[in-house]
Amino acid sequence: MQLSPYQLARENRKLSLEVPVDAFSRFAALLAEAGAPVRIDVQFGRDEQGRCLMQGRLSTTQRFRCANCREVEACNFDVVVDACILDSDEAAKELVGTFDPLVIEGPRATPAELFEDDLLLALPERPCRGSETCPHREQAPEAAVKDEGARRDNPFAILAELKDGAGRTRE
Ligand SMILES: [Zn+2]
Repeated sequence: MQLSPYQLARENRKLSLEVPVDAFSRFAALLAEAGAPVRIDVQFGRDEQGRCLMQGRLSTTQRFRCANCREVEACNFDVVVDACILDSDEAAKELVGTFDPLVIEGPRATPAELFEDDLLLALPERPCRGSETCPHREQAPEAAVKDEGARRDNPFAILAELKDGAGRTRE
């Protein structure tokens, strides 16, 4: 599928479509299985200098396998798109402001060229966040307290204290 971002911008068009997730090959390679299509709702337009802007959002739901605990978790994506499309790296360097520069050479681009970086940047660090079994889960504060209790209840620790005490009385 090919899109014409500059033409869409000239015509002030809103792009609303669903693209199979397989069209985003780098993103799709990270999934446990291909999930919902990627919903694209992006308005194209031009700024005062005639530059091509695209603003909107991408949404989809995909399942990832955690690299640590192998658990598969569903993740909802709702990604903001706010980019300025430019035809060269030189033009991108001149761009100062709130837009992300996106260099597209030629008049046409695939959905992956336009939106895949946004999807990749939105990937969760830990798909299984909150799972009990994942070694990368956040430590709950009570875990540290339990460790402290375990040390106190250790009979060998008490033995060691008794021995220390005995040693001191002998001095
Ligand atoms: Zn995990």
